[in-house]
Amino acid sequence: MHDPYAHITLSAGTILFEEGDAGDYAYLITRGRIEIFLRRDGGEVRLALRSPGEIFGEMAILDFDPRSASARALEDCELVPVSEAQIRQRLSESDPVLRLCLGVVMARYRETVTLLREHGIAARHDLPQPAAPSPAARADFDAAITAVVLERELRRALDRQEFELFFQPIVRLGTGILAGFEALIRWRHPERGLVLPGGFIAVAEESGLIIDITAWVVSEIGRVLPEIMRVGLGNAVAVEGPLFVSINVSGHDLARATFPSMVCEMLTTRGIPAGSLKLEITESTLMRDPVTAADALTRCRASGMGIAIDDFGTGYSSLSYLSTLPITTLKVDRAFVRAMLSEPRDHRIVQTILRLADEIGIPAVAEGIEEPAEALALAGMGCAYGQGYLFGRPAPLPETLALIRSWNCADAADPCASAA
Ligand code: C2E
Ligand code: CA
Ligand code: CA
Repeated sequence: MHDPYAHITLSAGTILFEEGDAGDYAYLITRGRIEIFLRRDGGEVRLALRSPGEIFGEMAILDFDPRSASARALEDCELVPVSEAQIRQRLSESDPVLRLCLGVVMARYRETVTLLREHGIAARHDLPQPAAPSPAARADFDAAITAVVLERELRRALDRQEFELFFQPIVRLGTGILAGFEALIRWRHPERGLVLPGGFIAVAEESGLIIDITAWVVSEIGRVLPEIMRVGLGNAVAVEGPLFVSINVSGHDLARATFPSMVCEMLTTRGIPAGSLKLEITESTLMRDPVTAADALTRCRASGMGIAIDDFGTGYSSLSYLSTLPITTLKVDRAFVRAMLSEPRDHRIVQTILRLADEIGIPAVAEGIEEPAEALALAGMGCAYGQGYLFGRPAPLPETLALIRSWNCADAADPCASAA
């Protein structure tokens, strides 16, 4: 078993695995060459040489069979192990036709190896040097290394508690009253500093790690939301009590049958009213597996949680789900808000979304408000809530608590005054 976080180094001559061993890892070679060989009649038969930019040891993982050959470092080598779980997760997400093709290729390769074994093979010490990988193959290799290393780092980050939630205020437009927050994840990387979600959420979703990250977010919310709500009650003049917090949820989370009960259990254990927690889901997430997502969201809504559609208008805006899903908030995407005052078309889109929200009787939150003029225009168009740098950037918990204590409606309601 390898240290799941480390690159491994092998000195020349080391045997990495033997024919017949169970396969639990494949390896990406970043330095040195690996020899794949069979032991026969007291000697060895070389089957292949693998060089930097190549993967080896993948066969036993793809088809569950034991190792079909042995592997030895021909020189000092550096490898990035890819675990069976990492490969299986990606396989399960891949196209079924591709999976079928892969299965056929694997079976044919095994047949060839068996034939070679049964009918004898000449020693092949004269193997040609492998051709240099094509630019496309090189790009795939680099992307694979990045994803595998990042996934490993994310696992370590979970173990070492390197994630942190930041909170961005959501205010009532018009009155400036503080209504709640959106929780946004940050990764305090030991070397790279604060990493934004754009740098890791996609790999977390591909690898399935998002499930563990969301579980962490849910438990962290359980830890901090009671304090946020308590501090909010202390500023009753400027804070709409009780404050809510929204969390971002992915399709993978909703696909797990246990998701609603996990969240409910956290709320009950922490004594948090379900209405103080909102789940934000993007349209594209909803469309990927609408039936499963609808089932999970209906259960969450039934227990009292709020359900917000995030980045509304940017996905496959299928309006049918608006009538079938228990949605309580629409979030107008930042892209429309940003262009609203300069582009008449975006202005009309915002207007249409706000009218739609009004028609189905739910409030809207406009995201990414940076300018006082945007806040004024949105309030004039009947948008209930606003979120954006104008009211506050995402901030760590201690700053967030200080912000709640000192929240002043006049500043937020009349952003021209506060910006002056
Ligand atoms: P999002 O849900 O649309 O979150 C809003 C993003 O817009 C945040 O970026 C926020 O910092 C940024 N933002 C807010 N106001 C303004 C503004 O006035 N101007 C500008 N330019 N940007 C503004 P962030 O924190 O980098 O998050 C990016 C995305 O990562 C989020 O988009 C969300 O989809 C995802 N994400 C964040 N936290 C989590 C999480 O805990 N779990 C999951 N699954 N996804 C998360
Ligand atoms: Ca969001
Ligand atoms: Ca958003």
